[in-house]
Amino acid sequence: MLFPALAVSIASLFPATDALSTDARDQNNVRLVLQITVDGLRRDLLDRYRQRFGQGGFRYLLESGTFFANAHYQHANTETIVGHTTLATGTYPSDHGMIGNVWYDSERGELRYNIEDPKHPLLPTRQNALEGVQVDPAQKLARTKGRSPASILVETFSDRLKAYYGGRSKVFAVSAKDRGAVSMAGHTGKAFWFSTDNGDFVSSTYYYDEYPDWVVDWNKQRQVELLGGQQWQLLNDLPTYLLGHQDDRPYETDLRGYGRVFPHQFAAAGSPILPTQAIVSPYGDRLTLDFAKLLVRSEGLGSDSIPDYLSISFSGLDAVNHFFGPSSLENEDMMLQLDRTLRDLLAFIDETVGLDKTLIVLSADHGMAEMPEYMTELGFPAGRLYPEDIIAAANQIAKERFDIEDIVRFYYRPYLYLDAGKLDSASFEADQVQNEIAAALTVRPGIALALARGELMKPQATQLRLQVQRSFHPERSGDIYVVQDLYWFNFDKGPVAAMHGSPWRYDTHVPIIFAGAGIRSRVVHRLVHPVDVAPTLSAVLGMTAPGSAKGTILGEALGDDD
Ligand SMILES: [Zn+2]
Repeated sequence: MLFPALAVSIASLFPATDALSTDARDQNNVRLVLQITVDGLRRDLLDRYRQRFGQGGFRYLLESGTFFANAHYQHANTETIVGHTTLATGTYPSDHGMIGNVWYDSERGELRYNIEDPKHPLLPTRQNALEGVQVDPAQKLARTKGRSPASILVETFSDRLKAYYGGRSKVFAVSAKDRGAVSMAGHTGKAFWFSTDNGDFVSSTYYYDEYPDWVVDWNKQRQVELLGGQQWQLLNDLPTYLLGHQDDRPYETDLRGYGRVFPHQFAAAGSPILPTQAIVSPYGDRLTLDFAKLLVRSEGLGSDSIPDYLSISFSGLDAVNHFFGPSSLENEDMMLQLDRTLRDLLAFIDETVGLDKTLIVLSADHGMAEMPEYMTELGFPAGRLYPEDIIAAANQIAKERFDIEDIVRFYYRPYLYLDAGKLDSASFEADQVQNEIAAALTVRPGIALALARGELMKPQATQLRLQVQRSFHPERSGDIYVVQDLYWFNFDKGPVAAMHGSPWRYDTHVPIIFAGAGIRSRVVHRLVHPVDVAPTLSAVLGMTAPGSAKGTILGEALGDDD
């Protein structure tokens, strides 16, 4: 060695580079970030059933983790893609662009489904394409089965993680719903979702040219077929249920023979409705978990010191809420069964990665409204507002005040879209027409507020108006945002019996629970927001938050005192 002294001195100047980074990782000790999203988990459902949860599921998270009990979305359109993308990016729909499950694409001149991408077709899993029964009204509007995150306008936590660790973090997202997976995987991860056509877990050409062997193997099992002819039965004896007395209500949905009361009968194996019925039961979540377990093992998640990311979004509770309502016996049984699914997930993660090496966060994409008929029975009157009612009312207002015929192009909640040509040719300012229609709609039964796009460009003074503004994106939003009154249903006629999507507390209130690696047990009652989740996850790992994040770091999750 020519310069031994120099080599030594350099080593002493920089001895700690590797050691420091290793120490820092050891301190955090995080090998896996596990983001669990329970679709439609209104926060108070945890309390309604808490005494009856077993050990190791919700109870583990609530008792060992930092539970933010008063977390509310700050946007008005509390829908699935909106909430998931808000959790993923730490910002509002006005920034991340996912303003609704459906919006009007002015370039194509048609309504579009949020993550639809014809450039990235579905990667087929079977030679003979099957066509299942689609009951999701938003999905029905999709022209193709191609999906990608192309329409998400900003960076996600998972994108940030991937960039921070030099591309070495493995990033995956799984859900029964495509939008519950694609949003969380971000632009750089891999997403899998459940096909309601055939019960396989699928992906698109955005993510893969061909399926990994383990996905092919899982799909070969045809697990959904095993449900054929079986029943969803109550987990416990009927008298132990709080809501056992209201199983049979005329305003619940019977999904093609699935029935309104227990036991719910699954269609025969091979039936096109079976995969959808599976999601409207505890078994869709079991399939999601089973697929996720194989993913963790096959891809080696959490197996080295570079933190990996796994998002699991459980879709079953939301589906059950939509068809039977959030205060149904089905909801109660679903929550108890979901508790077991969570217990099994956490036990599996403990076995494979270690809960002490896993940073867990659980939240939800939105809450759920009680059904209007249920509220009316109890003495709180509410009703149903259908698109045709809103369209007729707006057309009538435009005719009476401005002598414009058929001004509405269409309504897809929460937006009315007006005919731009008729607005231009009229002898009035477009703003004036929009504002007058909005003002006249606001005083109608079932409508709490209607706001025109011109108004949404201005500073807003009230909480409600701010919520609407945070849901507004100038290129994607319609002309008039319609907010329904409390407990009013604002959606299409059809099999959906209960809805979310309002700015009211039952739709904005969700749990945020951090648990696992280094997180301590406490309950926090101050008001926090789902936009805080991505910055907080980032802070635990020592990373800067996603580029557009608006949330703040929830210090309590990092062990800060009040
Ligand atoms: Zn949802």
